Amino acid sequence: MYKPINPEHQNSHCLECGEPIYGRADKKFCNSGCRNSFHAHLRSEGRQKKHITLNLLAANYGILENLLRIQKTSCPMDSLLDMGFRPEYVTHTAEKRGRHTEYRCFDIAYYISAAKIFNLHRV
Ligand SMILES: [Zn+2]
Repeated sequence: MYKPINPEHQNSHCLECGEPIYGRADKKFCNSGCRNSFHAHLRSEGRQKKHITLNLLAANYGILENLLRIQKTSCPMDSLLDMGFRPEYVTHTAEKRGRHTEYRCFDIAYYISAAKIFNLHRV
């Protein structure tokens, strides 16, 4: 059945361009072009976040690797922070029976106390 679009029947605004949308109540975009660019933007934002996180993990890994290379198994947190270490970026944490939690950055494990990381080793 033919149903004329009532221009008064405005439901919402296009999520991409912000123009008013007429017609079906569940429409979110004014056309497929707007829908496509909206989703492309979301995907690229997701990729960017992933990229930033991977770069930070890689930077942490490089710092830890350098410590292991010079056979250091502990390092003051202040020095780590000066080197650009970001303690909140880890790939794994495991509760241990002792007082400290084991943190991992890929295959390098360590413990963190208030003042330092210690027991740095490869797993
Ligand atoms: Zn639009």
